[in-house]
Amino acid sequence: MSCEAVPLSVARVRILELPYSADKVYDYLIPSELLGRVKRGSIVSVSFGGAQRTGVRRSAIVTAVLGSSEYEKLKPILAVADERFSLSEELLGLCDFLRERTFCSTGEAVQTILPGGAYASLFRARRDPVERYYRVACDTSVTRLGAAEKRAAIFIADGERSASELAKEASVSYATLKNMVVKGILSVRECEVIRNPYRGRGKVADSNILSDEQEAARKTLSSLATSNKACAALLYGVTGSGKTRVIKSVIDSVIEGGRSVIVLVPEISLTGQTVDLFCGFFGERVAVIHSSLSDGEKLDTWKRIRAHEVDVVIGTRSAIFAPLDNLGMIVIDEEQEHTYKSDMNPKYHTRDIARYRAAKNNALMLLASATPSLESFYRAKEEIYTLVTLNERYGSAVLPEVKIADLRVDSTKGQITPIGDVLREELSKNLKNNEQSILFVSRRGYNNFISCLKCGEVVTCPNCSVSLTYHREYDGDILKCHYCGYTQTVPEICPKCQSEHMSRKGFGTQLVAEELHALFPEAKILRLDADSTTAKFSHEAILSQFRSHEADILIGTQMVTKGHNFPDVTLVGVINADSALYLDDFRASERTFALLTQVIGRAGRADKPGRAVIQTYSPDNETINLATKQDYTGFYSSAIKLRRQLQFPPFCEFVLLGVHGEDEKEVLELTLKLDTKLREYTSGEYSDLPMYIFGPFEAPIYKVNNVFRMRIIIKCQVTKRMRELIGKLLADFPKASAKAAISVDVNPASL
Ligand SMILES: [Zn+2]
Ligand SMILES: [Zn+2]
Repeated sequence: MSCEAVPLSVARVRILELPYSADKVYDYLIPSELLGRVKRGSIVSVSFGGAQRTGVRRSAIVTAVLGSSEYEKLKPILAVADERFSLSEELLGLCDFLRERTFCSTGEAVQTILPGGAYASLFRARRDPVERYYRVACDTSVTRLGAAEKRAAIFIADGERSASELAKEASVSYATLKNMVVKGILSVRECEVIRNPYRGRGKVADSNILSDEQEAARKTLSSLATSNKACAALLYGVTGSGKTRVIKSVIDSVIEGGRSVIVLVPEISLTGQTVDLFCGFFGERVAVIHSSLSDGEKLDTWKRIRAHEVDVVIGTRSAIFAPLDNLGMIVIDEEQEHTYKSDMNPKYHTRDIARYRAAKNNALMLLASATPSLESFYRAKEEIYTLVTLNERYGSAVLPEVKIADLRVDSTKGQITPIGDVLREELSKNLKNNEQSILFVSRRGYNNFISCLKCGEVVTCPNCSVSLTYHREYDGDILKCHYCGYTQTVPEICPKCQSEHMSRKGFGTQLVAEELHALFPEAKILRLDADSTTAKFSHEAILSQFRSHEADILIGTQMVTKGHNFPDVTLVGVINADSALYLDDFRASERTFALLTQVIGRAGRADKPGRAVIQTYSPDNETINLATKQDYTGFYSSAIKLRRQLQFPPFCEFVLLGVHGEDEKEVLELTLKLDTKLREYTSGEYSDLPMYIFGPFEAPIYKVNNVFRMRIIIKCQVTKRMRELIGKLLADFPKASAKAAISVDVNPASL
């Protein structure tokens, strides 16, 4: 062995396209031309499997750079990706964290962290879009120039101008400009174009006068955020208490200290106002990240952040992976929302990623909500999080007066309309006073389903085990599946017994809109649901129409319940509060409470007092009654008692082992094998782990888009040893196919 210093010429990598069970480290040689460019965190291209030439080209991430390898005859690294897409030490650690906690592969973790467009095109030759900027290169007598050249020269006289400006404002063609460069009249500079669809949103005047209560909250949170210690806080504030103002002022102090901030919102289309607000406050130093950006826009946002052009990133859950250095604070607004839990691999909860990043950056994780999740409020009560409370509604706004309308009374009168007497009266009062109303309907479509009056057959989707929803379209009526998108014509006779008596049951947004048109023909009505907002930014269009009072009534699904501030809305109505309540899930009452509280909070936010009408068949229900009083702490104390009795979260955790696939027989066989193996482990090697195993049983919706779904639920504490058991179990069943595959969901959003 030589005693000279060995050049670091071996890269230890993880191949990105391999499944969890084959996700191991491999060594590759760094060829001399790539020495120094291949670093820990670099994404590289390698040949994998088979001989040098027969192997498949794969992407891989470098986890270490070494002087030598214990293996011989290493294959060389073929290429290294743009350095801007290599992962920092922190994000690399996050890959390991995701793999260990969510049982995803390294590839799935890296794909989640990198922006959407990057991964697929890392090694593809790509020309970044450029803009050309022209300036005058020499003094030229204007008389010698052609007409177009003259226009260009005059336009450019006072400095640099871009090609697109010249084309648009001086009607000079690109060819003319090129020619002028050739002649030496102009010089040209190329500059990469960074797309930012949120650029130039109006700057908001910052009238940051805080009430005493808000100022106290700001002080506490600012001192936590600038303490340079990893910590967590819960900002619990009733609707209308000005949480956003407080958060904004805390962000100011973090940025002043030279650090950056991530602000997460549950869904971009529902929080347009918040996004606009932040874009206005922080101008060009904001980046917005969400799934409806184009791949190019996502890529450019990543580049801007890596180039340190951004202090504040605002976005949905994927924004938690923004490559900001030196994070000072991560805000999770409406932290109870289920959209913070990813439903695809890796099935992470944003809160867990935020906790990880806050710890690595000595930053503050700030959760904010009017209706915090029971888990978070419990942690605040246990002083794991600092609890900061806002009790007062800001300004002169008061809580709305709430009426519970008993639908049983209407139905005994033989009424089958979704709008009962109480609600109808309040609506007509509002129309008379030229004030606006919002109606919340839990389902979209016209009717919920159609069934046969004779044999009871419900028309279901051929691909999914769910009923089809009746929709009324411009060109006729159809049945639609809300899970797979399948559509069919409405059958006139029962497909099972050929009876002609098919009946439509339940009501969706379309039917409610039609009823309202019939009841109040003069009223202008807008509908906001997934069917009316398929076009990009159509949400915003509908909402801004309503805000500028171009309509009297807004009907919608839960899209209408979130964060919007409509000063002229004095009435909100909930068509049926029970529909969310009887879902078969331990979080059902928590969700109903949050939903009703949010809906009620939409009424009377400015100087006009608000009213709310909650229609229900169970007017004595405790959750509904507490929500009408906006009594979160009352709800919390009774709900947490129940959770403790039943040993449900936060007093335990759940692991959901799923088996899914297109071949029903194989799915069932694999489920049985998995169950047998699990019980073998838990009665043997892992008998020390306390847990309950439920199942195997069918998922609540057994078939979705022709995929069959079985599950086993484990109630336990997800300790390191528990994770080891699950890892072993997965290693025992390495083969995944479209016919049957195993998935793991730690702490699923619902059971
Ligand atoms: Zn029938
Ligand atoms: Zn379907």
